[in-house]
Amino acid sequence: NETAKQIDKLIRNVPDFPKPGIQFKDITPVLQDAKTFALVIKTLADGLRNERLTAVAGIESRGFIFASALATELGVGLVLLRKPGKLPWKTLRATYQLEYGTDAIEIHEDAVKEGDRVAVIDDLLATGGTATAAACLLRDAGAEVVKAMFVIELDFLQGREKLRTAGFPAIESLLHY
Ligand code: 5GP
Repeated sequence: NETAKQIDKLIRNVPDFPKPGIQFKDITPVLQDAKTFALVIKTLADGLRNERLTAVAGIESRGFIFASALATELGVGLVLLRKPGKLPWKTLRATYQLEYGTDAIEIHEDAVKEGDRVAVIDDLLATGGTATAAACLLRDAGAEVVKAMFVIELDFLQGREKLRTAGFPAIESLLHY
């Protein structure tokens, strides 16, 4: 569709970043283009308007960029999911597998409460480890994760399957590779 095409034109492929053999999708040209950035936020918002959200949750760090604009667009609060040791208050933590080793993500224990309806937002869905850990953390903290939305999804890494298996089947991405 037209939205996907317009975003795709501004995604820069960076070979061998952050490691040899990885082709990184750089979203910064999208942010630098006022019309396209606004289109991304509007399109993400359109996917969430009927969900009666109480908050959106952004994943550090590029997820913050989209989630914060989305929160003001939708008129809901913003919850931060951060790398370990960054949040100042009492936290809950979820650990997840990487190709080599593990990583973790944290949330303030009072960031959500029972009955909250939250959407997980990130720039890109790859293997799904990060987004699944984020969604599980929100669920453990008492929220209902009603949807996960991404600007980009790397279909061949099957992150969607990981989210679905963990009980989060509502997934939407604006652009697929
Ligand atoms: P996953 O846990 O799904 O394997 O990786 C997704 C996380 O890594 C997201 O937080 C995303 O920001 C980051 N990420 C992985 N690969 C890329 C990439 O090619 N481009 C961008 N912009 N982010 C990536």
